[in-house]
Amino acid sequence: MDQIQAHARDCYPEECCGLMLGHRVETADQSQKTLLALYPMDNAWDQANGPIEEKTSCSPLTAARRYWIAPQDLFNAQKYARTQGWDIIGVYHSHPDHEAVPSECDRKWAWPQYSYVIVAVNRGVPHDLRSWILDDQQQFRSEPVAVSAVAPTVETDI
Ligand SMILES: [Zn+2]
Repeated sequence: MDQIQAHARDCYPEECCGLMLGHRVETADQSQKTLLALYPMDNAWDQANGPIEEKTSCSPLTAARRYWIAPQDLFNAQKYARTQGWDIIGVYHSHPDHEAVPSECDRKWAWPQYSYVIVAVNRGVPHDLRSWILDDQQQFRSEPVAVSAVAPTVETDI
């Protein structure tokens, strides 16, 4: 959490973004993830702005608050995670001078099963961090987060 907040502070007033790596355990009625490492990314929104704008109905007025992870970066991250025996379990990004609640654009581009951590940064100071996950109706619901000193043992063959 400290690392996410530090990244958010460094990028302010721009959005920061990155991937969360770790383990995921799925059971019939719940999904639990263990975050073990962060994979900070460059925010590629500027380069990607044009094409995405055409593909989505996200209004240009909300474009100030966006992040975009380049496909090649995602590919590299996947490769790195695999060498560590980890999965990509989610994405984190910051909301400069905005609350830690997903935007409509965040929702449109969200993938099921990923956790989306958003850190709110108020005048350069991170002050709120929340995790979100899509439900069956493709709507975000908040997800409980617990910090533990030692990562729980995970059965990776589930
Ligand atoms: Zn957002």
